[in-house]
Amino acid sequence: MPIPVNRPKTPPPETPQDGREPLPVSPVQPVALSLEDRFRFRCHKGIPCFNKCCENTDILLTPYDIVRLKNRLDVSSREFLDRYTRDCELDAHGTPGVKLGHKEGLRACVFLGAEGCGVYEDRPAACRYYALGLMSMRRKDSSVDEDSYFVVKEDHCLGHLERQEQTVAEYRRDQGVDRYDEANHDWRRIILKKRSTGPAVGRPSQRSFELFFLASYDLDGFRAFVASEGFRRVFDLSEQEYARLLADEEALLQFAFRYLRQVLYGEKTIPLKSEAVQERSQRYQGKIAKRAAQSEEERSRQQDDLYKSLLDE
Ligand code: SF4
Ligand code: SF4
Repeated sequence: MPIPVNRPKTPPPETPQDGREPLPVSPVQPVALSLEDRFRFRCHKGIPCFNKCCENTDILLTPYDIVRLKNRLDVSSREFLDRYTRDCELDAHGTPGVKLGHKEGLRACVFLGAEGCGVYEDRPAACRYYALGLMSMRRKDSSVDEDSYFVVKEDHCLGHLERQEQTVAEYRRDQGVDRYDEANHDWRRIILKKRSTGPAVGRPSQRSFELFFLASYDLDGFRAFVASEGFRRVFDLSEQEYARLLADEEALLQFAFRYLRQVLYGEKTIPLKSEAVQERSQRYQGKIAKRAAQSEEERSRQQDDLYKSLLDE
């Protein structure tokens, strides 16, 4: 999954003389780097392009980005989403995504101030990665994701002209992205799986989108959901486990991803209470019986219509 970076305007494509469709010019360098590969780049306060990259942004937020930012700003996740983000879709099925907001009437990041980034210590993973991009892929017949990195070179960014060189691993460490990637790891796997299985299983239900949004982005809402009577009736967790989840936000976030794997893919990641399993199976049987009765009703209605039409002739 590519992690989008601050992405200003891509230069307009040149029109070839032979009438073919012009190819878009991408700032992403077409060379996949590993953790040990070196690249030349340095960003610092004294550089003439300082803040240029934050003036025209398109930043997709991850669940852990939101936890860090809402805590920094001391607001609830709902309030953070309402005040500082824009909605988007992560794929062609309409899986909900969240992007960092803009200043009114501009494309500048909502947190850009005269002195630079107003949330620097808690800036999102995409801002930390820039000028690298991350791509996660899973080979056919493999259960492990493989990460590759790409340099993103944009005309306005002078950091590529600096002398400093480092490995991708060193850059990641300096920027503090390891913690972000670790916290978001299971969520990225859910997205990858969604993309690879999506077309085969059809468009997910509105309900599954709502649960995805709640568990991915609105952690305070998800906490209230976990604390609810309805949740406790269905899921078999000890009181100790509930106490831990309700008190520890990072544990709750990882639990939210377990919950998503259960509701989206039917993986048995959280034990269910036996009564809930029974009730669910009865509900399922009831639905099948209802469907069968409906078809029976439909058959007799069609039969009646046929007799009626024969009599009318
Ligand atoms: S060097 Fe690049 S990343 Fe750093 S401030 Fe300039 S445009 Fe932004
Ligand atoms: S969060 Fe900070 S670093 Fe990221 S785009 Fe906004 S101002 Fe720039």
